[in-house]
Amino acid sequence: QVRVRFAPSPTGYLHLGGLRTALYNYLYAKKYDGVFILRIEDTDQSRTIPGAAETLKDDLTWAGIHINEGPWQGGHFRPYVQSERLDLYKDHINILLNNGTAYHCFCTERRLQLLRKEALKAQQIPRYDNKCRNLTQDEVKSRIARGDKYCIRFKISDTEESFNDLIYGKISYNISLNEGDPIIIKTDGYPTYHFANVVDDHLMNITHVFRGVEWQISTTKHLMMYRAFGWNAPNFGHLPLLLNADGTKLSKRQGDIKISFYRDNYIFPLALINYITHSGGGFQKDQEQNVKPKCHTIDELCHQFDVSRINSHSGKLMSDMLLEFNNLELKRQFEDEDSRKKLVPIVRDLLHKTYSDRVDLLQTSDDYIIKILQWSLTRTHKLSDLFTKNLEFIWFQPSSVNIEKNITKALVVLKIQLANEEDLNKDKISVILKRVSKENNLKYSSFMKDLRLILSGLKEGPSVAEMMDILGKEDSIRRISLCLN
Ligand code: GLU
Repeated sequence: QVRVRFAPSPTGYLHLGGLRTALYNYLYAKKYDGVFILRIEDTDQSRTIPGAAETLKDDLTWAGIHINEGPWQGGHFRPYVQSERLDLYKDHINILLNNGTAYHCFCTERRLQLLRKEALKAQQIPRYDNKCRNLTQDEVKSRIARGDKYCIRFKISDTEESFNDLIYGKISYNISLNEGDPIIIKTDGYPTYHFANVVDDHLMNITHVFRGVEWQISTTKHLMMYRAFGWNAPNFGHLPLLLNADGTKLSKRQGDIKISFYRDNYIFPLALINYITHSGGGFQKDQEQNVKPKCHTIDELCHQFDVSRINSHSGKLMSDMLLEFNNLELKRQFEDEDSRKKLVPIVRDLLHKTYSDRVDLLQTSDDYIIKILQWSLTRTHKLSDLFTKNLEFIWFQPSSVNIEKNITKALVVLKIQLANEEDLNKDKISVILKRVSKENNLKYSSFMKDLRLILSGLKEGPSVAEMMDILGKEDSIRRISLCLN
């Protein structure tokens, strides 16, 4: 059975790159009827932020990623938080110490600093010189008994290590050229990422690891550890970088790579997911050519997901596609009766939140909101666009305007004709407007300008017939009446 995991460190919020990693693992599990696990990698206690793990979980849930096993879901392989698994790491480090693939290192921070300095001076890559590899058992025992501080290091081999990356193909790397033996247990007794990650992936029966390409080189080190334990390693696939459209790196300092930023800005989860899957490949193309872009559901994405199609070069995020997908998703939700019903209270909440200081809201009935939503489908990208300045007329009566005397008569006639018409719609309104302006010898365009001002307070905006159509007969007549008084 396929078992994959998303293993974030709770050192901050979930960002776009993290969401993509989680999503690809999730899609893989879903595609092969596997299990998706959330594991919290908090072995670097100094960088752990309280509450971050729970927020990560909430962000994943919001995005529609369903976790099968994890700290909040439980499962056979619990605990799923590394700081609660310290005993397991202790047991496992003994295996490596006993078979001679790991060793105690007593080098002081001062010595390591000196090594670093010397290397930099000689313009070499600073790396640990593996000095403690050669201590005798007796020496180790007596130094431990003496109370000397130590860490535990893993012996890396000085040969090239190769593996078949599911996305990049064959990767070969001699890690010893760039680093000395890595620390796997720190002086505080906590494991480092590399060790805990390998032990847990094995103990949790992980079959496939999809993670960011920044870990690709470390994988060679991990493979040596699997071998030292005598374990089979999972399959590895590394996901290329996600970049801005202009090729620059997504920076954690940019607020807009936080997942919560999108949620707070009324981006639908599926729109965000389609946005990040749109660049970078990994999906079978829609069958027909020239099909219109579509905001796919998770099930559709899962169906199309194909690891061999993931690009091995960086993917660029096309920011205009995000709003495009959001609009498509808005349309999809509107067309579906159940989802449509759920949209209404969201709009109403947003309305009250946006205009919390105003008491003069006009119509907020379900029918009215649905009508507005329908009208907005071809005009707006996200729900919050309904609350921009130029659409305030939808929700509020504009302040009354002084009208030219010469249109008073036309307005009175217009009111009557509107009132007489049953089932008013945009086309019928257009006919009435043209007739009234003609019969009153008014220039059509300037009459429309005045009417737009009366109805909305706007100099420019949607056509008058459109406005009247969405406001409805009664409200349109009322707005005209108000300026006649
Ligand atoms: N804790 C690592 C991270 O936050 C996990 C990397 C991996 O998936 O192995 O990126």
